[in-house]
Amino acid sequence: MDYLLSDEQKMIQELARKIAEEKIRPVAAKYDQSEEFPWDIIKVIADSDLFGLFIPEQYGGMGVSVLNLCLATEELSRACGGIAVCYAASALGTFPIVLFGNEEQKKKYLPDLAKGKKLAAFGITEPEAGSDASAIKTTARKDGNHYILNGLKHFITNGGDAEVYTVIAMTDKTKGARGGSAFIVEKGTPGFTFGKKEDKFGIRASSTRELIFTDCKIPKENLLSREGTGFIVTMKTFDISRPGVAAQALGIAQGALDLAVKYAKERRQFGKAISSFQGIQWMIADMATEIEAARSLIYSVARMVDAGRTDVSKESAMAKMYASDVAMKVSTDALQIFGGYGYMKDYPIEKYMRDAKITQIYEGTNQIQRNIIALQVIKESAK
Ligand SMILES: Cc1cc2nc3c(=O)[nH]c(=O)nc-3n(C[C@H](O)[C@H](O)[C@H](O)COP(=O)(O)OP(=O)(O)OC[C@H]3O[C@@H](n4cnc5c(N)ncnc54)[C@H](O)[C@@H]3O)c2cc1C
Repeated sequence: MDYLLSDEQKMIQELARKIAEEKIRPVAAKYDQSEEFPWDIIKVIADSDLFGLFIPEQYGGMGVSVLNLCLATEELSRACGGIAVCYAASALGTFPIVLFGNEEQKKKYLPDLAKGKKLAAFGITEPEAGSDASAIKTTARKDGNHYILNGLKHFITNGGDAEVYTVIAMTDKTKGARGGSAFIVEKGTPGFTFGKKEDKFGIRASSTRELIFTDCKIPKENLLSREGTGFIVTMKTFDISRPGVAAQALGIAQGALDLAVKYAKERRQFGKAISSFQGIQWMIADMATEIEAARSLIYSVARMVDAGRTDVSKESAMAKMYASDVAMKVSTDALQIFGGYGYMKDYPIEKYMRDAKITQIYEGTNQIQRNIIALQVIKESAK
């Protein structure tokens, strides 16, 4: 399929592909095993200016483009979904500042994030507030020129390794969802510590930790937008970050298909390459078609955002839901094509299946995406 990418978009795609093939693929299994944070790869990505793809030019970036971010994330994920999410999660943590930060906040935080000198993370989830984000208990109490944060976030990607955190806390519990506010919290702030690092099923190169706030005092200037807008900040952020999760899923699916096709051409049974069997060919046909359908959806949504459309919740949820379901199915079928060998850790394919699973869970599970889509479809039909 020709997506009529511009020369600049093709250049970004090729650059990310080169990093993926030359730097990431050779070490993907090592990081998966060790669960070490891949700082050496982050440095390569930073030196290539890919962190600038989600930051305006006036703050040292290359201009905010969700399509460019998706192209880069897709290519990096083709080699390792875990390393790619260390990159993409920084975009997630940065978007609230890009969308809602004031001039001072943007000037203070964005230049280092654009250069990849610092990573960002986004924290809303808590042990008792996952899908129901409005149930968060972390509080932010105004105290003169400061806010005092207390509470715990868990499952935070880049937690502990990022320097800049955008965090949602309740400034007024009596107002429910209208009582949440978004804050920027810097690593190293007294009262801000990290809990355990999770031992995960997939995306093991990425770090997932608890954020613990104990009388953590931050300047009032770190409030994003206004008090009470925390959940709007979150929803608007997810609208433009979910295509990035979809692109991660897409890259994982494409990477799994690439490996499966190569293996099918090499593996011989009954005196023939298994790629000559119709049963295998039909699986390959379905996988390739579903991947292309996901890609079409993701690039279309990304182009809508880049064109300035802000009413993209439904389309963004569709892209995230569809691409992640495709990634799970394609990576499972790819393992099937490898037969018993695919089940062994000596082969790279089982990692794709493990890495794919999370894309159906984070930034809102696919059940929640379906809720968002259905509500919007029903609303539109009533017009
Ligand atoms: C590796 C990893 C990284 C993460 N990174 C981040 C991060 O960087 N920042 C952050 O803030 N969070 C992060 N999360 C949290 C993630 O977004 C949540 O795990 C997710 O939103 C689901 O919440 P939960 O795990 O509490 O599941 P629950 O909300 O308890 O859901 C359990 C099950 O019930 C279903 N369910 C719940 N409500 C409904 C409903 N109304 N209708 C139908 N089904 C429903 C869910 O779909 C799911 O299948 C991460 C999670 C993981 C595992």
